[in-house]
This record gives sequence, structure tokens and C-alpha cells, in this order.
Amino acid sequence: MLECYFCHVRAEATKRLTSEQGRFFVDCGANPLTNLYADLQRLRKNLPTPPVSLGRQVFGGLSCLSAPPSKRLCVGAGFTAHRPLYRKWRNVQLLERTSYILSQAMGRQATQPTEEAVRRALTKEGWVNNTPSVQDVVRGWVAPRDPPTCSRSLIRSISEQSWRGLAVRDFGGEKGKGVVATCPMDKGDVVCDYHGTLISQAEGRRREDSIYRFYFQELCIDASSRCDCHPEVDTYGRFLNHSRKRPNLKPKRFDLTFPDGPRPVLVFFAMQNIKVGEELLWDYGMTRTSFGGEGKDLAWLDM
Ligand SMILES: [Zn+2]
Repeated sequence: MLECYFCHVRAEATKRLTSEQGRFFVDCGANPLTNLYADLQRLRKNLPTPPVSLGRQVFGGLSCLSAPPSKRLCVGAGFTAHRPLYRKWRNVQLLERTSYILSQAMGRQATQPTEEAVRRALTKEGWVNNTPSVQDVVRGWVAPRDPPTCSRSLIRSISEQSWRGLAVRDFGGEKGKGVVATCPMDKGDVVCDYHGTLISQAEGRRREDSIYRFYFQELCIDASSRCDCHPEVDTYGRFLNHSRKRPNLKPKRFDLTFPDGPRPVLVFFAMQNIKVGEELLWDYGMTRTSFGGEGKDLAWLDM
């Protein structure tokens, strides 16, 4: 029940909020709940499908190539009406196929695919029914977003550290803390900034005890301690873990004009669609041989 609420109801309701303002239990309009028990009872009553874990049995592992769920599997998982479920499955399959063909036909810089490239990708799959049309695939393409440098909402999010859909999670053991998504994110979404004190490269090198230094071009951001502008806040950027093999975030530098003057910032973007509960990872750009082999014992750099 809680998983269903967290992954679907809450994730959808808070999608358009710029800040969650610390609300965990919200109604469909993202208003904070006053009577949690009554609302959970209502959710249980109005739940359109059986709990998520059962839904997954039927839709789980769904890919554009998988076969539709059999009537027996549907009934076994608690879905008594097979026909509507089958129609829903076909719709999902069509969407999956459309986005799969798009991913195959797009240009290297995620440019709009040509009709010819889409046709080639479709022919390769050889689907005989429930096939998206060439025009639908081309229309489904969305231009990658590149926020303008004067972006007011980006400046506000950085100044207020009001990032949406993030939570610090303690994974325990050697791994420690990391950041997970509490809202679905789309490829190209702004996630958060690497927040800290902006210093020069030379100053960064002097602070060799600090493990939270991020060098870029001639500058360095030191996030080892809380910043002067948010002395009460543990900002997200410094808790993001490293992954060389499966990063889902990419940092990018922007020069923004804040009320107190211009300054460069490092902003993380989603490299792909990200699901609720997924850990957010970026490639620190270091290997065990970096820094003259100083990191040779750090096995996590290979992950
Ligand atoms: Zn700050």
C-alpha cells in the first residue's frame, strides 16, 4: 500500500510542484493530509488495480518484445477483467515501442530522427501488429532541453536549495549515504546543483583534506562543510555517489546571474528517465590510476 502510494499517487501529485516543502503524505492535489488514516482507507477503497507487487507480476518485465499477459496469469494476480487489462497492456506496448524506435532512430546528439531512419528501425524489428506509425514516432521526439543562463527557476532552486523529488538515503555499511529519486524524472530534467563554496583551483589543491572537492576548468567547489548561504542545510550534491559503469546524471557548468552578482554553477541533469526509488549516480571522472595511482585501493571507483 505504502509502495503504491509512494511510487504512483505521491510521485504524480508532486510532479508539478517546484518544492515538496517537506510534505510526505499529500492528496491528489499535493495538499498536505490532515487525516492520514481516513485517506489511506479511501485509497484502499478506490485502488483501481491490485497492489503494485501483483501488478508487476502481470506488467513486470514488460518490454516492447514481450508477449501479452495470459488470462490465467491475470486472474492469478487478482485482475478478474482480462479484456480491459489486455487493452491497457497493448497501449503500454505501443508507447514502449514508440520510445524504443525513437531511441534507435535519433541522431547522435539526440536530434530529431528522419522518417527514413524511423522506417529502417521499424523494418528491423519486423513487428506485425500494434506497430507505431512513422509519423507518430517522429512526432514523439522532444528536443533536449538546455536551460537559458538567465533561468529564473534554476536560480531560485539553487538559492533556496528547493530541489524536488530527492531524498538522502543511508545504504549502511561501507557505502553510506546516497541520493534517491522520490519522483519520476525525465531525461534532460535538472536534478540539483553541486553546492558548496566556490574557490580557485589553487586553493582547492591546498585543501587536500577535503574529500568533497569538485574541480571544473579554473575553479573548484568545496562541499566538505555546510556553505555560508545555507548553514542549516545538508545539500544533495555532495551525497551523490559515483558510478563509472551506470551513471544516470551528468554535470554541466552554467554562468548564472544571481541577485548578488554572476557566478558559475554546476548543475546535474538526468541522462535518462529515472524511476522512483532509483539511486542517482554520476561519473566522478576518476579511475584508480588518477592522481599518480593514489586511488589504487579504491575498488568503488570501478563501479
Ligand atoms: Zn549555500
